[in-house]
Amino acid sequence: MNAAPFRPEELAARFQREYGAAPDGIWQAPGRVNLIGEHTDYNEGFVLPFAIDRTARVAVRVRGDLQVRLLSTYGDQGPASANLNQLEPESAKGWTKYPLGVLWALREAGITVPGIDLLLDSDVPPGAGLSSSHAIECAVISALNDLTSAGLTAQDMVLATQRAENGFVGAPTGIMDQSASLRGAEGHAVFLDCRDQNATLVPFETGPAGLVLLVIDTKVSHSHADGGYASRRASCQLGAEVLGVGALRDVQVGDLPEASGLLDETTFRRVRHVVTENDRVLQTVERLEAEGPSAIGLLLDASHASMRDDFEISCPELDLAVETARAHGAIGARMTGGGFGGAAIALTPVEAEPEVRSAVVRAFARAGYREPGIFTVSPAPGARRIA
Ligand code: ADP
Ligand code: MG
Repeated sequence: MNAAPFRPEELAARFQREYGAAPDGIWQAPGRVNLIGEHTDYNEGFVLPFAIDRTARVAVRVRGDLQVRLLSTYGDQGPASANLNQLEPESAKGWTKYPLGVLWALREAGITVPGIDLLLDSDVPPGAGLSSSHAIECAVISALNDLTSAGLTAQDMVLATQRAENGFVGAPTGIMDQSASLRGAEGHAVFLDCRDQNATLVPFETGPAGLVLLVIDTKVSHSHADGGYASRRASCQLGAEVLGVGALRDVQVGDLPEASGLLDETTFRRVRHVVTENDRVLQTVERLEAEGPSAIGLLLDASHASMRDDFEISCPELDLAVETARAHGAIGARMTGGGFGGAAIALTPVEAEPEVRSAVVRAFARAGYREPGIFTVSPAPGARRIA
């Protein structure tokens, strides 16, 4: 990751030096933060992510053959190369699996793609829950869509990048991250119904409300492969089966008292998280539309409590980040992402930002935790061509 991204002309010059020709263009796609709606996606529920002002950028040139050459600004080894006819799922290394996964998924969908030379630059920190991987994939698929006659819609690109992650990278991810990256818009969050995959933009502007959104990266690594994620999915499935619904999306808050009599204690708490979280997403959307971001703090807090106590996917570092931010002026805070590590977000009045930052750093030092990464993000445009 680069602290400051290369400017488009710098990236183009670097591309020219490395590959001996100018790129056909430069495309960028953002990482994302999920404002609220956690572990609701695979229950066919609601999520509310937004595209952030940190992006992956790819300079791309179409080749005349089936070779692919891949370079990034963070590695100084020569380009990785691959042949389009020999792409094997789960065989690619490091970040190259994301662009290769996109090429593979397009070919699997019957779309003819050319060989390319590619240079990647990104300031989306990897593994911090900001979906650095989808930022890369969405930049690459936007480039390929523009450079070929594929004519993909945003939804086609959402599904192709999902296929790349599931089938080539080997990560069991859904549609949230790339929907935010591809459909995001400045000053808006993306309200996504994971059942019909319909996406609507909802106004979300922190600046005019005198707020900043802080991301606190605990540096505790999370992994989708770890059993916690699979076991939560299994609990949700069990809950839906016992309650006789296709997905927990179909259970309402008012159904919970009855559900508690039908489910074992742990499964009930898992179900309660999903059901109340869906309700919180809907309430957040309503409040953003009617009153703005100052009105959503308590919903963020309630979401965190639900993930900590009912879904049990938080960890001491995330809890400390959230509690400390709240105690020092944040109006709402929650862990974001899959859990068991990763990042928390804290919606904070501008004037309280320095105090929240230093209090969190002090609290982590006192607890003997690694120093967290703390930075602000704001709702930014989705994937697009920039040069
Ligand atoms: P997330 O998408 O939540 O950031 P993932 O584990 O899905 O986490 O993707 C992180 C991976 O993406 C890293 O292991 C690395 O291979 C790759 N990656 C993404 N951005 C960068 C970057 N700027 N520098 C190096 N590797 C990166
Ligand atoms: Mg990822």
